[in-house]
Order: sequence, then C-alpha cells, then structure tokens
Amino acid sequence: MNITVIGAGYVGLASAGGFAEMGNTVTCVEADNAKVRMLESGVVPIHEPGLQELLSKNIKAGRLLFKTSLEEATSESELFFIAVGTPPAAGGTPDMSFVYQAAQEIGRTIPGYALLVTKSTVPVGTADRIRAIVGSELEKRGARTDFDVVSNPEFLKEGAAVQDFMQPERIILGCSSARAETALRRLYAPFVRSRDRILVMRPREAEMTKYASNALLATKISFMNEMAELCEALDVDIERVRAGVGADSRIGYGFLYAGCGYGGSCFPKDVKALIHTAKDLGSPAGILEAVEQRNRRQKRRLYEKVVSRFGSDLKGRTFAVWGLSFKPDTDDVREASSLSTMELLLGAGAKIKAFDPVATENARKAMQPTWTESRQLTFCSDQYEAIEASDALLLMTEWKQFRNPDFTVLKRKLRSPVIFDGRNQYHPDEMTELGFEYYGIGRGRTFEARSAAT
Ligand code: NAD
Repeated sequence: MNITVIGAGYVGLASAGGFAEMGNTVTCVEADNAKVRMLESGVVPIHEPGLQELLSKNIKAGRLLFKTSLEEATSESELFFIAVGTPPAAGGTPDMSFVYQAAQEIGRTIPGYALLVTKSTVPVGTADRIRAIVGSELEKRGARTDFDVVSNPEFLKEGAAVQDFMQPERIILGCSSARAETALRRLYAPFVRSRDRILVMRPREAEMTKYASNALLATKISFMNEMAELCEALDVDIERVRAGVGADSRIGYGFLYAGCGYGGSCFPKDVKALIHTAKDLGSPAGILEAVEQRNRRQKRRLYEKVVSRFGSDLKGRTFAVWGLSFKPDTDDVREASSLSTMELLLGAGAKIKAFDPVATENARKAMQPTWTESRQLTFCSDQYEAIEASDALLLMTEWKQFRNPDFTVLKRKLRSPVIFDGRNQYHPDEMTELGFEYYGIGRGRTFEARSAAT
C-alpha cells in the first residue's frame, strides 16, 4: 500500500518505519526542514531503541522517503496518517493547530479518494472536525472527492516505540465506514498475525479510549505516590507494599512504582486535557484533578527532602543529578521531573552537575533561557564526573547503568555520602551498610532516620 505519514516525531517515525517494514511504500512528511535533511542523510533525530536500524533498512530498500511538503507525497497515496504533535496550550487544552493544519493540507492536495487516520492523541469530536475541514477545503477547489476519517490512537511507549508498534497489544479503529475498515484491517493484518487484536468502535469512542488509558495509568502512579508519602509517615517500606499489592492478579504489577512524579509528552498533557473537557461539560473530574495535584506535589518531593537535609539556603552546595530524560531509553525531557527539580535547586542557590546517557542536549535546551550552562549548572559527559565534590547524588531516571554503580567510587568522590533516590533503585538497608545516608520515596522513616544517624 502507498502510505503518507505526517509528522516525523516519536509516533510518526515508528509508524512510518513499521509500515515500511511490512512492505508498504511510505512517505513521511515533516514540516521541519532540518529534521528531513537529517533523516535523508541517515541520522535519526531522536533516541529510540531499534529505530535507527529500522529506518536505515527501509530507506535503503526504497520503501521509505522523507519530504517536507504534502504536495510531493500525495499523488500515489490514499492513506494519510496524522502523527503531528498536540502539545498543551493555555488552560490545559491541547493545541490542535498542527492537526487541523495537516487536515487542511490534505484537503487542499488530494486528487481522489483519501483515508485520513488520526494517530495523534486528540479530544473527542476531532474526527468530526477533521471531516469538516477537509470537506470545506474540497469545496473551495470544487473537488467532489470521497474521503473517510478514522481515529486510530497510538499506544506505543517511548523507549520501546518500535517494539510496541511492531507488536501492538491492541489496535483501536474508530471507524464508521466499511471501506476504511477493510483498508485498515488489511494494513494492520501483518501486525496481528498471532491473534486478532483489532477493536472497531466509533471515532469518538476511540478518541476517548486513548485518554482514558493514559489517565488510568497516571492514576495508578499518583495513587502509589500518595501511598508512598503515607508509608513515610507510618514507617512502612512502599516497595514491600508494592510487591504485596501487585501480587493480586486483579491489580497487577504494572505502573505501581512510587517515584518523583510522572512526566513525558503524554500523561501530563492528556490528564490536563481530560480535566479541561470535563470542566467544559460541567462534569466533575475529582479523580483526575487529584491525580494532577498529586503529581505536582510529587515533582517537589526530592527537592523538599534535600531542603530538610541541607537547609533551604543551598548556596555553596553542589548536587549531582543522574538522569534527565522523563524515563529511561529515551532522550525526551518534556515535563521531566529532573527539570523541575533542577530549577528548584538552582533557584535555592545550589550548583548542579548533571548527567544523562542520551538526553543532555535536550535538557540543555529545555533549561534555557532561564538557566544557561554556567558555573551554577554544568552538564557532564560521565556519571562519575558529576558526583566529584558534590554534596549529594539525586537519582532522577532509572537508566540501567545507574542500577548498580560503583558505590566505592561514589563514596570516595561525594563530599558527603548522601543519596536521594527518586526512583527507589537502591535498597535502604544495603545503602546504610555501605555507609550512605539514603533517602528514597516512601521507604519508611526508620531507614531515613537510621541513615541520618549513622
Ligand atoms: P513530536 O513532537 O515528537 O513530533 C511531531 C512532529 O510533527 C514534529 O516533528 C513536527 O515538526 C511535525 N509536524 C507538526 N505539524 C506538521 C505538519 N503540518 N506537517 C508535517 N509535520 C508536522 O510528537 P510525538 O511525541 O510523536 O506525538 C505525536 C502525537 O502522538 C501527539 O498527539 C501525542 O500525544 C501522541 N502520542 C505520543 C506518544 C509518545 O510516546 N510520544 C505515544 C502515543 C501517542
């Protein structure tokens, strides 16, 4: 099949590569010229395991092309996937301008029947809006072409985008046309060969499924974070509680980790968008509001622990920060807890030496213009360089290379052996035995008191 994917971000690139891998001819249209030039020269602008290999292989095979405008792509294509960003705008609504612009461009250029498929996460009712936009563009140029609009939300996870796209747990088709359903079932058949995982519903239901899924995952995280704070007050280790709670098959272990708050380009904006929708409709959204509020609080927790250990004036203190991306295996720092924590520490006068295996460049850009690299903020190219003469280590992202570091080196290089573990990667007892003062999330008062006393 001839496919056009609009947007070469995390979703667009994984989709374009995945469709091409199954033998389709894919043109990926990206508005950012610099990105297209990089992709054409074989450089993938984002860090995503397996993506470089997937794209290179399919570019080489002639099944994957990159263009900067839709005009260059439309003549052969009937299938248009919209995978552009829907970043948060003022008041919590997603900025839909990129989606609407893509729909407009499709309406302006299609020569015949077109199937528009929305992969971006969009509010309920967007398929109708896209239909209206395309219809009006066709009318403007007096074209009488048939078209369909389908909502096909994407569920891939950053850090495992290629794997998730190639082996999806479910494919949701929000579809009200038999022609569109047949075409998409054909396209997705190679991805669901072991068993049918395609669910067909109305576009509005598909749009809502995506929001409800992300909101529920965010709820699980915020719930465990709330439990973690209670655990601290009750002198209970949240990790033991997690193991006990997750053993219930009705609950499961997924997304039960307490930590320093969720970030990324999806959960924060999708929860906010759903709250906004509820407000618009006059429908109560107490659970979602609490999830959001807890996450805001959680993103301050490590900073608060630093302040209660070192005092509120952090001038003269230096902190090593390990991990800048919002989760491991990605270079995405959007809404990452590391950024807000660093801002709070810098604001209190501290110096920061930060390290991340792949996200340094994005973090450097995200901290500007308020915090440019200076004597107060340094980005290091090695994790042990960051701890050199630092007063404490803050672990913000659970990259594998941080799981079992050389604690002897850590103890030798740190000015004082203090660890603030925002992802509960280390065991409090072991840390105490090794001579560290250890502060995790919800690990119980005893650990912290015992650590501080030794
Ligand atoms: P992204 O910001 O990484 O990429 C979007 C790309 O679209 C950018 O490169 C931008 O330049 C391009 N673009 C914008 N308007 C364009 C236009 N008119 N023509 C061509 N290109 C255009 O975004 P992303 O993280 O891939 O997310 C895309 C959508 O998918 C969002 O709605 C997001 O919520 C949703 N989603 C994201 C993930 C994820 O993990 N990132 C997972 C599932 C769903």
